[in-house]
Amino acid sequence: MPGGWPKSRDVRQLTESRARFEFDIPVAELPGVSSELSAAAPLHVRLDFGREQGMGVVQVAVRGSLGATCQRCMRPLALQLDTDSRVALVTSEAEAAALPEAWETFLAADGVLDFPALIAEEVLLALPIVPLHDAGACSAAPPPPPGGNAQEPAATTRPFADLKALLEGGAPGGRDGNGQS
Ligand SMILES: [Zn+2]
Repeated sequence: MPGGWPKSRDVRQLTESRARFEFDIPVAELPGVSSELSAAAPLHVRLDFGREQGMGVVQVAVRGSLGATCQRCMRPLALQLDTDSRVALVTSEAEAAALPEAWETFLAADGVLDFPALIAEEVLLALPIVPLHDAGACSAAPPPPPGGNAQEPAATTRPFADLKALLEGGAPGGRDGNGQS
């Protein structure tokens, strides 16, 4: 199997044969995921196909670790992924609408399942919309503000300014006195 994981297969065939797959897939292969997230190691995926109430279903388990950026402190954040959900494989939007709301569905257009797209959807559903560290776990020090003149000491009281004002205002007749003598 080139690449190590299936790309696409016929849904009916997969579900009627109760096919099982277990493989590792790099995040870069998952459409829509790789642009925002990085991963040091491929994700581990397990797929169990079957039929339930006449529907083709698949149990999708994805495990791994993804690197995101915390949207509060803008520092790296590791997201642990451990999802296991049952997905109904539908071939049209109408078929999806006819199912109970509790069913998670995935559209396999023309009865063909796109494996990377299915896994990508599971990953995106499992991840937080806005990745954040746990409360209080962000770095306390905010990033330094732009510009370098923020640390000028504020103590600009000049004691001699007062002294000068005192001398100028306090001795107006001094010169006269001196001149007279
Ligand atoms: Zn943070």
